[in-house]
Amino acid sequence: MILISACLCGIDCKYDGGSNRHPLFVEMLRAGKVIPVCPEQLGGLTTPREPAEICGGAGEQVLSGQARVINRLGCDVSAAFLRGAEQTLKIAQAVNPSLIILKSRSPSCGVGRVYDGSFSSRFKSGNGVTAALLKAHGFDIIDDEAYLKQEIKN
Ligand code: SF4
Repeated sequence: MILISACLCGIDCKYDGGSNRHPLFVEMLRAGKVIPVCPEQLGGLTTPREPAEICGGAGEQVLSGQARVINRLGCDVSAAFLRGAEQTLKIAQAVNPSLIILKSRSPSCGVGRVYDGSFSSRFKSGNGVTAALLKAHGFDIIDDEAYLKQEIKN
């Protein structure tokens, strides 16, 4: 079984009320191959919601209390992001997925690269909060772009 960011499967859980739908992931959901999760909704945030970015570090630093997740209005939403990461981890530990596919660049789901905190579509190295927690617990994570590249090669 594969765990996946719900927005990739066409679930409208993105901050703007839309999704990051890709036909391959929609098909995987239809075929019962993936379990969709949205950490930000699991953390109690509404949809739609203000976009948020990590300031002062990346997901790893949010986990250790050295960085914060701030939304576009300037509110600290770190607690909701941490709650969402913990709930996603709980699901992962229950289903023990062989792989976790996460939406690139998201402050929750980004793998290896996230928005830099300036709300100007610039990036920095590091994982989103949920990605960092899943990785710290030994789960195999990959972002959607890397997964799709692999699929095209094979
Ligand atoms: S990137 Fe992650 S947190 Fe954001 S909408 Fe998609 S599943 Fe939810």
